[in-house]
Amino acid sequence: MPFAQVALPLPLLREFTYRVPEALQTSLKEGMRVLVPFRRQHYVGVVIDRHDQAPAHLKTISALLETLDQEPIFSHELLSFLKRMARYYGAALGECLKVASPPIDLDTLRRLADRHHLPSDMKLRLRTVKVPQEIHLRLNNSIAKNNLGKVQKEVLAFFEHTPECTRKELLGALPHAQASLRRLIQQEFITTREQPARSDPFLHTHAVPDTTPTLNGDQEQAVTQLQEALGKNSYQAFLLHGVTGSGKTEVYMQVIAEAHKQKRSALVIVPEIALTPQLVSRFRARFGDTIAVLHSGLRESHRFDAWQALAQGKCRIAIGARSALFAPLPQLGVIIVDEEHDASFKQEEGLRYHARDMALLRAQGAKALCILGSATPSLESYLRAQQGKLSILKLPKRATAHPLPHIEVVDLRRYRSTSGNPMWLSPPMRRGLQECLDKQQQAMLYLNRRGFCASLNCSECGEVLQCPSCSVALTKHQQVSSSHLRCHYCDHHSATPTHCPHCKTDNLIDMGIGTEQLEEQVQTLFPQARVARLDRDTASRSRHATEETLKRMHRREIDILVGTQMITKGHDLPGVAFVGVILAEQPLMIPDFRASERMFQILSQVAGRAGRGDLPGRVLLQSYQPQHSALRHAANHDFMNFVNEELSARQELHYPPYTHLAMVRVSAGDARRAEQVCAELAAIAKAQINQTNPSVRVVGPAPAPLTRLRGRYRYRCMLFAAQRPALRRVVESLLQRIDKGVAPARASVDIDPQSML
Ligand code: ADP
Ligand code: ZN
Repeated sequence: MPFAQVALPLPLLREFTYRVPEALQTSLKEGMRVLVPFRRQHYVGVVIDRHDQAPAHLKTISALLETLDQEPIFSHELLSFLKRMARYYGAALGECLKVASPPIDLDTLRRLADRHHLPSDMKLRLRTVKVPQEIHLRLNNSIAKNNLGKVQKEVLAFFEHTPECTRKELLGALPHAQASLRRLIQQEFITTREQPARSDPFLHTHAVPDTTPTLNGDQEQAVTQLQEALGKNSYQAFLLHGVTGSGKTEVYMQVIAEAHKQKRSALVIVPEIALTPQLVSRFRARFGDTIAVLHSGLRESHRFDAWQALAQGKCRIAIGARSALFAPLPQLGVIIVDEEHDASFKQEEGLRYHARDMALLRAQGAKALCILGSATPSLESYLRAQQGKLSILKLPKRATAHPLPHIEVVDLRRYRSTSGNPMWLSPPMRRGLQECLDKQQQAMLYLNRRGFCASLNCSECGEVLQCPSCSVALTKHQQVSSSHLRCHYCDHHSATPTHCPHCKTDNLIDMGIGTEQLEEQVQTLFPQARVARLDRDTASRSRHATEETLKRMHRREIDILVGTQMITKGHDLPGVAFVGVILAEQPLMIPDFRASERMFQILSQVAGRAGRGDLPGRVLLQSYQPQHSALRHAANHDFMNFVNEELSARQELHYPPYTHLAMVRVSAGDARRAEQVCAELAAIAKAQINQTNPSVRVVGPAPAPLTRLRGRYRYRCMLFAAQRPALRRVVESLLQRIDKGVAPARASVDIDPQSML
């Protein structure tokens, strides 16, 4: 077949036909990457079809230049999944393929560069990519081993179990042996060799095998049902609703073990892989080195290795954050989405997709099981379960000794400091922490705002210091001796002013509290306690900062851990007996119809960190709205009442999950321009509805709640529809208009948006 249809990595809603050179006629297959000329440049596209004939209307057809792959990188299963995904989001197939592609390996890149002009991003990579090297050590056996020092003997003893190891491994085990090793190398007792590094940083330590525990009754029932379903070799989706610490992970592992028996592979998607080293080590303890961990911290060479190991069936389990959705797993048996309610499954930039929804779609095409697990299922999933699209499995009790922690609500209105300011560490909170310390147990304090304080306000004229490019208040950050202001949305940094820029008086005061200040207050109140902090600022100190803090927490080298969202996610820390939430209603401050749902989820998740080990747990929620129903339900561990109440509210307002939502976003440097384009798109949508689609409701154009971001004014328009096909038709007409260009404005359509800002 002399013609190939190629999807290009550009926001174009169609594919292009190329002639296949004679030499490639037999080897070129669907799912391979090819280098092609397009508009005087070269691009890497993907072959999605082969044809006998070119479309009649084409006068000239260019030839494709090269193939990049010997075998297709996209299997038939993956390719048809990506086609369905592109259709679902109204996205260009080429862009979906690009997001799902493994990196091009360096050799291939060099080969292409010798013969063609490469796209600029590939040229850049070629210049910047260095294959990381590693030093391998080998013992030279033919040498007399007398007259050696004590440490030198230790080094030689290390080689009794392994003929070869890397320098890093050896010094990891014998950190004091650096000098001795150098001498042994000088004396040629040990030979060295440099090699490209291959190991994944997640997998550098040896996994200690675990023993499979005996399942409790609820787990047993869930596993039996899932294993039976797996035997049927067809698509089936489940919602595993298990309270925090109920042993969901154990259920996942037993289902995967069953899939292994049937020679099928498994995909595990988690919200943030950097926060889940523990989950990875539990999987490794069970399954050894059959696991590939996919995460954004991976060097390209490692990502390439992981991809190959999976595609060739050397690894049969892929674990990773949302982009692991695209892992090349042959004979996919089961996809697991852990903490399925988590908003981070939504990719918010570029190609906007929701990994949980797409996991269902992929499982459908692959005839695999899909398991969505959570202690606080999203309303979307819960409604799907009610409608029978998901089968529900329940783990209502904790797997360990203790029941769910006891939760108390503290009314913050009752406590103010002498200066009239809020008392963020109220007397009950202080007592709770003190008791916890007295019993030598660990505590966590949750506050979802990093920095020192929330904003800087002028008590004279009321001015709030704002970012010059965004419509948000600047946050003060305090380092050892100096402080500065930072915008949490763009890169803006500036020195903290001493005078109000508006009225010029020196009456600027700190408003609200951030984790930096909380850490400081806690340390001042409990000078003996070992206090640490976990948030995006501490995480950015070094690559392993977060992992290190979590490890120290495990080793009980920290008494009180202060942190943001990062401390709430899935950690299993048996020493934590007390959890305090500084301001429970924080999620309600964001204008979003999901605010109550988020609040319930966050409070349940953070509370779920307490009492997971041998200690009973205790939780305090501080709030100015102690009667708020989402808060009350969270305090009572009452998911059912919360979900029923919230579902009926959504139904009444015609909000998701009862309707499908698409968000049209328009931004421009000039507010009028943004509004104009948004109004035009809204008008197109409305015109469509009158004729054929009475079931779509258009709300807008209106300024977005975050009116300005990075210097651009933002407008939005929302489309609500009871049926997806109706919504899709309207969205298509908008995409066609956007495709024609709206510059200098930018416009996009977000299907099933998670962020309402
Ligand atoms: P979840 O994922 O539901 O929050 P985990 O899987 O982390 O819960 O389990 C919580 C704790 O209970 C873990 O320490 C786990 O090892 C333990 N566990 C799970 N299942 C069992 C079981 N059947 N018997 C004993 N301990 C279990
Ligand atoms: Zn900003």
